[in-house]
Amino acid sequence: MCDDIRLLEDSLIDKIAAGEVVSRPASVVKELVENSLDAGADRIDVEISNGGLGSIVVIDNGKGMTRSNAQLCTSRHATSKLSRFEELAELQSFGFRGEALAAIVSVSRWAIQTRRTDDPVGTRISSEGSRPAAVADIGCAPGTRIEIAELFFNVPARLQFLKSTTTENSHIAEVVMNAALANPQVHFRLVRDGRLIRDYQRHNDHLSRASSILRESTMLPFRVKHEEVSIEAALAPPERARSNSSGLRILVNRRPVKDRGLAHALAFAYGSVMPPGRYPFGALFIEVPAAEIDVNVHPQKTEIRFAKPRRILDIVSRSLSKELAKSNWLNIARHSNEGAANASQRPPGFYPAMAQHLSEGILSLNQKQTSYGSPNLDSQSQSLGFFAQLRFIAQLKNMYILCEGQDALYILDQHAADERIRFAKLHKAFTEGSVTKQRLLFPERVTLDPKRMAYALEHHEALESLGIESRAIADDALLIDEVPAQLAHLSVELLINDALSEITHTAQRSFSDRMDTVLATMACHASRSAGDAMSAHECKALLSALDEVSDFQGHCHHDQPIAHTLAFSDIVIHS
Ligand code: ADP
Ligand code: MG
Repeated sequence: MCDDIRLLEDSLIDKIAAGEVVSRPASVVKELVENSLDAGADRIDVEISNGGLGSIVVIDNGKGMTRSNAQLCTSRHATSKLSRFEELAELQSFGFRGEALAAIVSVSRWAIQTRRTDDPVGTRISSEGSRPAAVADIGCAPGTRIEIAELFFNVPARLQFLKSTTTENSHIAEVVMNAALANPQVHFRLVRDGRLIRDYQRHNDHLSRASSILRESTMLPFRVKHEEVSIEAALAPPERARSNSSGLRILVNRRPVKDRGLAHALAFAYGSVMPPGRYPFGALFIEVPAAEIDVNVHPQKTEIRFAKPRRILDIVSRSLSKELAKSNWLNIARHSNEGAANASQRPPGFYPAMAQHLSEGILSLNQKQTSYGSPNLDSQSQSLGFFAQLRFIAQLKNMYILCEGQDALYILDQHAADERIRFAKLHKAFTEGSVTKQRLLFPERVTLDPKRMAYALEHHEALESLGIESRAIADDALLIDEVPAQLAHLSVELLINDALSEITHTAQRSFSDRMDTVLATMACHASRSAGDAMSAHECKALLSALDEVSDFQGHCHHDQPIAHTLAFSDIVIHS
């Protein structure tokens, strides 16, 4: 090797750059589609063969290029979208680096056809790699057609890194789907090996496009605007949640992004109905002023940086949690045809009481009158509490407890009731500093990612006050010696993760509010599930335990009752 320093040739620089911008056929599709969108197209056809390695053709009806622009567009740093650095912050277009075409053509055989509406004749330019291109007149429709054939023909090493044709096909389909989600007003078609496989017709808005693309009938639309941040989301109910964020599409200013923070914030907005570690299914669209984000942090622009990340996360979780609370998913689930059959598979927190937590954002202990009013005790039952004096009739569907009171029938939600009892007990013990702990027979090791590990150390005392005794035994692991006795039957890992998520995710709230949420989540997990068969004895014990919860003698601490009532006086049969 020679030690002399020399400047790299442009064609070599382009090829090296291609390694960053064009990692696989799908990235070519992404860049070409973005150029078509930047050109104002409302119809974009993508045709691929052999996983995009045979050819990729993108045809648009955008504004097209003049001949001189067409000749320039494949040069490095040739862009029509940016001329001064100051514009970068306000940029609305997808592209601005002027790198994509230069990089793509440097590693392919290619042809560009383009015509502006006003030009009588179009231009065709073709070549292979960075060789001087041939230019010719061509009769063509207004717009641009770019064909990239034999991608990586001159960088065989890269071909070896590509996966199967099927994998590349699915990456391409993903790119087109994301583009379609982000741009509902554009008609997209994807043709694969001569067969039309996707046809995304135009829609008026993101949400109707999202529901037609994601094909999930349970999704509901949500729209909120907080100051200059607009949020639209099409979201499925919590029982459709997934254990990773793969079912969640996030677009910020029309760019699909992978952002764990946002995925978390959205999961958090569901509150306790979202089991820890799971993520909602759906699509989240966020629009912020261009100056609020930096898209220039990743060559493929799949990551963005918010100027004030904390604030955006906060807005997403707070404003969506309010909206989600209005969703009334509980009723939908119960009244739908499969509702009854599916009910036992619902995540444990999916109950009115918990839906109410969403609307409040936090659990509050303010006592409020429930719809079933004050107990109306007769002399005999004076010593019994309100719930204990109800006459137990039956357990229904292994979910509800049917009881007769003096003036009404009561239908209690067994999970919600049990959860309420456990929460109140935990809360009492916690506030009195008397959480009963249980020593584990075999201390349990819990592995945590670095962030959670740091939280665990930082919040060691909070964990201790919740009844969790832990010590660090490695950079990424805690050893748990003791857990709250009431929760000893739960998985230790779940317990720790619940506690850490809630303690840390809500840093802006007061400590006691946060602890209430932790306790509520724990109570929810510890509670008897819907679907558990209960004996008459157990049902009666549950009723008595409700009375023991000093916080509500016939009242509950949410607007949402844990029981429905049917007053006898309302049972009027019209003949
Ligand atoms: P960038 O998009 O960052 O500007 P590109 O290399 O992707 O860089 O494209 C270079 C230029 O070529 C663009 O700025 C645009 O002027 C022009 N161009 C590329 N594709 C199209 C298209 N489909 N329609 C119209 N103009 C295009
Ligand atoms: Mg571009």
